[in-house]
Amino acid sequence: MPESGLDVLIRQTQLFIDGQWIPAQSGKTFDTINPSNEEVIARVAEGDVADVEHAVLAARRAFDEGPWPRMDARERGKIMHRFCDFIEAEIDELAAIESLDNGKPVKDARSVDIPLAIECIRYYAGWADKIQGSTIPVRGNFLCYTRREPVGVAGQIIPWNFPILMAAWKWGPALATGCTVVMKPAEQTPLTCLRLAYLAQKAGIPDGVINVVPGFGPTAGAAIVQHPGVDKIAFTGSGETAQHIMRQSADTMKRLTLELGGKSPNIVFADADLESAAEGAHIGIHLNQGQCCCAGSRLFVEDSIHDSFVEKVVDLSRKRRVGNPFDPTTDQGPQVDRDQFEKIMSYIDKGKREGAVCATGGQRVGDRGYFIEPTVFTEVRDEMAIARDEIFGPVLSVLRFSDMEELVRRANATTYGLAAAVWTRDVSKAHILAERLRAGTVWVNCYDVFDAAAPFGGFKQSGFGRELGQRGLDAYLEDKTVTVRLG
Ligand code: ADP
Repeated sequence: MPESGLDVLIRQTQLFIDGQWIPAQSGKTFDTINPSNEEVIARVAEGDVADVEHAVLAARRAFDEGPWPRMDARERGKIMHRFCDFIEAEIDELAAIESLDNGKPVKDARSVDIPLAIECIRYYAGWADKIQGSTIPVRGNFLCYTRREPVGVAGQIIPWNFPILMAAWKWGPALATGCTVVMKPAEQTPLTCLRLAYLAQKAGIPDGVINVVPGFGPTAGAAIVQHPGVDKIAFTGSGETAQHIMRQSADTMKRLTLELGGKSPNIVFADADLESAAEGAHIGIHLNQGQCCCAGSRLFVEDSIHDSFVEKVVDLSRKRRVGNPFDPTTDQGPQVDRDQFEKIMSYIDKGKREGAVCATGGQRVGDRGYFIEPTVFTEVRDEMAIARDEIFGPVLSVLRFSDMEELVRRANATTYGLAAAVWTRDVSKAHILAERLRAGTVWVNCYDVFDAAAPFGGFKQSGFGRELGQRGLDAYLEDKTVTVRLG
């Protein structure tokens, strides 16, 4: 799809509440910016407390009285599959909007983000008619059984790094279980979520089941979190916002699932297949412009291979093509916005000042748009800011190790625990580390392998609860125990 004329694709810019496209009650809008050229793509309705009130009432009604939770579960699954058919039919347009709004290479949106989103919704469509309780042999003459019922209205707040995919991770299990949804997409990237809502309606998802309220965190987001009509919050974003959400949701005792940041260790032993490990180290950090919560941002390399391995990784970084996300040869687009760009550049500066060696990158690319060179720091020490903090950009910190016990201690010496990876041909070493690394996902001889069936989530301050897989359904279900006296 050519970049010119893409504005014709932007058809949904209003709030989507109770099946209607409406302006914000305040009449306000906000600009969504193209991070490649810093120009306004569209003005989007800015939801606030009053709009959230409207959306929650619609979701509440759809849950308490509407057909969605009551319909034959197989029918719910069928409608979800139809929704995916419509996403598939529009995959090029959706990829173009995603790329325009987020800056990611259109080829990645087209071949990774959207196929994974479709896989996720189809996976959960398959679960719709397989959610079942159990019978329990209790004392006395009673029949005791459990029912698994939808948790109710889910407030879903998502970030800007994978807009379509995050919407799918949240909608898939919510729809399959019969919940209804009020979603707030990130203010940087509201456009594809709105288009998905349009496709959901076209597929036959009843009014009020999915409501989308674009807007800002402290206004629209906070209103969702505080609303007594919302039963559960599913949040993906920063730890700081998550702490705020935990405090704010305490008054109404909301169920919470939180998927937060990371500073994931990616560990390369001398006995690994070093070509594929180098590729894994490269993709592990640079995928999606480094804007992945599970980015392998701490690369631990065994001392004996350190220099030659780093050379391979630096070489791959130098070859990475940074530029226009609509050019099919582009590997890396711009960072999502000016705030992120400035934050990353300040970490690069800090890394240099703290004495790490900038082996490649470290500069802005061009003078328009938020492009940053793929950057690799060597001679990084554990206490440096670039080894401790989540940078959320294309900045890799390389650390040396020689002793395995010490490695485990250092790899785990972080408040985060989202992901980790190990590269080795030694099976027992791989399994020992898989056990000892305190992270929700451990990849062995691979990185960033995702599947809708495999649970994903954090240890420690990377959050709690799991998304994807059967565990992802649990977050949208309540267990009800029914005890019946028999005669
Ligand atoms: P990031 O740093 O990745 O932008 P944030 O945690 O700031 O992470 O944002 C993730 C999502 O949380 C966005 O949709 C944002 O608007 C929303 N958000 C930010 N602050 C709040 C808040 N106080 N309450 C609810 N949602 C919020």
